[in-house]
Amino acid sequence: MTISNTISIVGGLLLAGLLWLMVDPPGRNTTGAVTTEGTTMTGTTKARYSSSGHDITPLDKERVEELAKKLDPETYRITQKEGTERPFCGTLLDNKLDGTYTCVVCGLPLFSSEHKFTSGTGWPSFFTTYDQAHVHEEEDDSLGMKRVEIECARCGSHLGHVFPDGPKPTGLRYCLNSAALEFHEKGEELPMESRPVELETAYFAGGCFWGIEHYFQLGDGVVSAESGYMQGDDKRANYKEVCSGDTGHAEAVKVVFDPNRISYERLVQAFFDMHDPTQLNRQGPDWGTQYRSGIYYTDKAQKEAAEAYIDKLNESGRYSKPVVTEVESARTFHPAEDYHQDYIVKTGRACHVKNPW
Ligand SMILES: [Zn+2]
Repeated sequence: MTISNTISIVGGLLLAGLLWLMVDPPGRNTTGAVTTEGTTMTGTTKARYSSSGHDITPLDKERVEELAKKLDPETYRITQKEGTERPFCGTLLDNKLDGTYTCVVCGLPLFSSEHKFTSGTGWPSFFTTYDQAHVHEEEDDSLGMKRVEIECARCGSHLGHVFPDGPKPTGLRYCLNSAALEFHEKGEELPMESRPVELETAYFAGGCFWGIEHYFQLGDGVVSAESGYMQGDDKRANYKEVCSGDTGHAEAVKVVFDPNRISYERLVQAFFDMHDPTQLNRQGPDWGTQYRSGIYYTDKAQKEAAEAYIDKLNESGRYSKPVVTEVESARTFHPAEDYHQDYIVKTGRACHVKNPW
């Protein structure tokens, strides 16, 4: 054997080795992630929403300081330094107009004219809040008294106090500083920061819904995830019948999300990271058409985003087999029985699904 032959054999072996490294091994390659633009995962604190649909995620200190720069010195003193305005001096004390009272700092709706009453104390008074989750209560032992301070739940600004001497039906008196509030008359368009978030809905099927629901629920910007049945015979949408495998349903998860915080594309990415979309009518230990992989879109934009992502996955070489996920227009979603909701949290059981976040 000549030296040049030896070099070419060694070179050939090296080349073969390099090629072997570059080709995906058989089965699933979990390292070949497809990147998605428009991802809006923010920070580590999961976003919070009130039942009235407002984003009540606590603002960080820097953001509050930035917002507080617009305040006049008296309003700053009251809202940021737990100050109190003199009685009978506030601008909103005698306001009888219909409308909403929002936080003067961050704009969160705090009180409604429906609940305002004349207390005679000299401060605007309400017998309940706009939404319980919008007003945070804190024990206040200052001035030698035991009182309950109220703060804006989103920005922490001081609002006033709540006392147990109000009228029916609550028996409470929320005693406010006018300076802490901004009034918006009924009919007036509320600023963006005072409006409920415009939520969107997405539907995914990735085998048994327990795990899929659990992990979607953990997504930052996901408001709720619910297990149910879709794309089958509407009259047979219950667990017993769906288990037979001949109702046409897929076990699916309804995901309600805030598009300001998480994009539909990011949810699609998470969905594919959770399950194996190359398995036909099967996931983990579960077999049957009810365990098929599917994305059920609610509009053209979702359809296009889902199809584009599947194209990218197929081209990426991440899987050794083609993606079999079906993409169809969403039909009626039937929520699953109560015991299936939050199943992983309730039972502590694990399942085939991986955490995609
Ligand atoms: Zn606020």
